[in-house]
Amino acid sequence: MIKRIFNNFILIAFITLISCIILFLGILYSYFGSQMTDQLENQAVYIAQGLTNEGVSYFDDLKNTDTRITWINSEGTVLYDNKADAENMENHADREEVTEALEKGKGTASRYSSTLSEETIYYAQKMDDGTVIRVSDTRYTIWILIWGMMQPIFIILIIVIVLSAVFAYGMSKRIVKPINEIDLENPAYNEIYEELSPLLTKINNLNKEISMRISDAEKKQNEFTMITENMREGLIVTNSQMNILSYNTSALKFFNVHKGIRNKSILILNRSETFRKAVHLARKGQYSDQILVLNDQYYQIITNPVYNNEEVTGIVMVILDVTEKEKRDILRREFTSNVSHELKTPLTGIYGTSEIIMNGMVNAENIPKFAKNIYDESGRLITLIDDIIKLSQLDENSIPEEKELIDLYEISENVIALLKNEARLRNVSVEIIGKHAEIMGNSRILEEMIYNLCDNAIKYNKENGKVTVSVTQEDEKLKLSVSDTGIGISPDHKDRVFERFYRVDKSRSKEIGGTGLGLSIVKHAAAYHDAVIALESTVDIGTSITVFWETKRAGSIH
Ligand code: ADP
Repeated sequence: MIKRIFNNFILIAFITLISCIILFLGILYSYFGSQMTDQLENQAVYIAQGLTNEGVSYFDDLKNTDTRITWINSEGTVLYDNKADAENMENHADREEVTEALEKGKGTASRYSSTLSEETIYYAQKMDDGTVIRVSDTRYTIWILIWGMMQPIFIILIIVIVLSAVFAYGMSKRIVKPINEIDLENPAYNEIYEELSPLLTKINNLNKEISMRISDAEKKQNEFTMITENMREGLIVTNSQMNILSYNTSALKFFNVHKGIRNKSILILNRSETFRKAVHLARKGQYSDQILVLNDQYYQIITNPVYNNEEVTGIVMVILDVTEKEKRDILRREFTSNVSHELKTPLTGIYGTSEIIMNGMVNAENIPKFAKNIYDESGRLITLIDDIIKLSQLDENSIPEEKELIDLYEISENVIALLKNEARLRNVSVEIIGKHAEIMGNSRILEEMIYNLCDNAIKYNKENGKVTVSVTQEDEKLKLSVSDTGIGISPDHKDRVFERFYRVDKSRSKEIGGTGLGLSIVKHAAAYHDAVIALESTVDIGTSITVFWETKRAGSIH
């Protein structure tokens, strides 16, 4: 702005100065022109007078005059000229001033030289005898005058420009300074040029409107943040370039990233094919629902395009942690396939054996042997189905909360009594140590749990092995532990033995009537009683499985 004011100022000064010079010189030039004409007129009148009185001899006195004097007769023939030989001069009848003088008594004219450097002014006066006296004088043209004055004009011009520049600079600074000092936050309180008042009022109103809108937007943003931050689902919003505009903490947690992802590409969160496909589909305007597996966790990635005037201007991604559901589904699928398989084996045996008997292919003395086969397989089937029913009851939490005070020591003693025969058959001794301890629990489920633990401890024991059941309390923890001196479980299998149908040695388990569901039932039974299980085992030394209860919650030892 300062530059503009400055330039305009200089331009105005320049134009004014040049105009003044031209006007001034023009006025002066025309003034001196008319002065010259007046002088020529006076001279012509004198000469005419002298010629009338003294005759042609009068011209002798005028020979050395600066002014040119020409005497022309009424036909235009030059009779006398003080600067040239009259006889050699051409006819002057067509000269403007001569024609005018012959017609009106006097005439004027001015003519420029061929180089335009000089102007000759003519004055012609008609005499009583019809002849014409013409006087003329020459002066420089205005351009020559200007050219001659160029140097002073130039000096004046420079002085004026310098002065104008100084003045213009100071002035433009003085004009701009208060404008620069306007407090745009509070425009109404500024007292500067009156002309700016409407503008300042407008800015003031705009300021108010902007701050209102900002506070509205902030309020909405806060509401949005509050809602999204309280969501367990992850939320990410991007623009059309797939750069992140907004996200919540859950989203950061799922993708294990820290803050600072705003304006970065959404693909920095994950570059897997599933994730890229979800983003790509939404970008193309399609809804997408994908399952992404990340660090053994399952995430449902739902992406939706955001439209504005039928154009995709971004995407909204919602991420749900569906690990539990997915894992449950996988387990269920595995369980169903395992159950079918486990049921099929004994059934095939029964079917085959009964078919042989039916076709009369078995001698009478062998029938009891085949019948025992059918009996054993049916027994396995019943045990299996029993276990499946128990497990699914525990799994679906369909057992009513019928809890009562139960003495763990007493119930363990009952279980040991039930397994006495089996232990004797396998040459394994079973003992119980510890104290009486009561917990709130379901006797049927607890009995089932202890039975499975002791049954395994006997089954997977060695000749002359030992099983110890102990009920103790340590560090405010109530412990029921079943230890054996059996074959043990190697570290690779330790974590998996609680899975359904998982057996370390499948054929051995089947041989001794195992279903692969025992420890799974133990796990669910412990969970039903809010207890925690720990397994310690060394191959060929033995296994110890302990069920812990928090004493304060569970009960007490006495
Ligand atoms: P099973 O009906 O086969 O015994 P379980 O679920 O009770 O099924 O046990 C799973 C597997 O864990 C068993 O097949 C066995 O290999 C192993 N196991 C369980 N208890 C013991 C133990 N006390 N000692 C050694 N291995 C054991």
